Amino acid sequence: MTAMRRVYLDGNATTPLDPRVRAAMDPWLDCGNASSLHAEGRAARAAIDRAREQVAALVGARPREIVFTSGATESNALALLGVVRANGVRRVACSAVEHPSVLLALEALRPGLDLALLGVGRDGRVSADAHVPPDAGLLALMLANNETGAVMPVAAVAARAKATGALVFSDAAQACGKMAVDVDGLGADLLSLSAHKMHGPKGAGALYVRTGVRLAALSRGGEHERGMRPGTEDVAALVGLGAAAELSARELSDRRGRWSALRASFLERIRAAALGARIHSPEDGLPNTISLAFPGVPGDSLLAGLDLAGVAVSVGSACASGAAEPSHVLLAMGVTREEASQSLRVSFHAGTSENDLAACLNALARCVKGLRDARR
Ligand code: PMP
Repeated sequence: MTAMRRVYLDGNATTPLDPRVRAAMDPWLDCGNASSLHAEGRAARAAIDRAREQVAALVGARPREIVFTSGATESNALALLGVVRANGVRRVACSAVEHPSVLLALEALRPGLDLALLGVGRDGRVSADAHVPPDAGLLALMLANNETGAVMPVAAVAARAKATGALVFSDAAQACGKMAVDVDGLGADLLSLSAHKMHGPKGAGALYVRTGVRLAALSRGGEHERGMRPGTEDVAALVGLGAAAELSARELSDRRGRWSALRASFLERIRAAALGARIHSPEDGLPNTISLAFPGVPGDSLLAGLDLAGVAVSVGSACASGAAEPSHVLLAMGVTREEASQSLRVSFHAGTSENDLAACLNALARCVKGLRDARR
């Protein structure tokens, strides 16, 4: 019996480790402590320095502005708690569709902190002229949304926030590797990213901190990451992050071109299949992300059916799946609770092919029809 071919279309949850990244990491899985002064330690330090340059280059930063972390969740916590604590911030403006690692980090700072939520339109985007309260000390606006792929007008909103003295933080975990990211162009003072969203390893990420921005560390210990993130570095993971960043930058336009073609083909064929699909993702969002709903078909049943058919997708965000609550992102867009519970996210990664799409569309048509019949 041959094993069923799996089709993985959940790239926004995580991406397969690129074999070139794996090869770059391998020699560093067992290496010296980068803080040691002997040759083994110096070699590890040099490998981390190189990774820092690669990550800085991906976002247009200087290497000394990059703080390595365990991923975007930690980067987000460090950015938010670190800025609020070091600068005595009392009010933060943030979008209603931020990742839970942003929203819950801010929630945890209440009641001492006031939150001004920026709403989104039907397209999942904060408006470019969204009102940022003049007394906000910090703006947190993600660059691209994980569920819908909506790309936020960070530069425009940041410019107005900066005019009243706010610092600007952007969660770019989903944007890096999927669109060009430039901290100066965005006006970002802090920006987070994650290796496993761009074919790097899980458990590695970074926070960009603009020179001069005051930040309080979350933990104390050694002088690693200039005291901002003490603890012995996972050299292999950071080397993997660096390699993934370099490959993402080099292959960005090629990947985007392929995703755009795949996305157009997917949308055309899903319309032709006449399954009544409602598309939630804006047309000009991340080209790898499609959020859609099939009326009358619960998203979790559809996910389970597709999984049995060998196709991996997601309902809402991976972090929210398993929870009964419909996605806060879709609700903020004005999608009804019922339709939100019928939603599915298909997200491509760099290796996604036309064959994957064909398998997914086949399985979708079968499952949607089967589930609708079963409910009659
Ligand atoms: N922010 C966004 C927008 C994300 O999509 C994710 C991952 N779901 C995170 C933060 C958290 O990233 P990590 O898994 O690296 O902690």
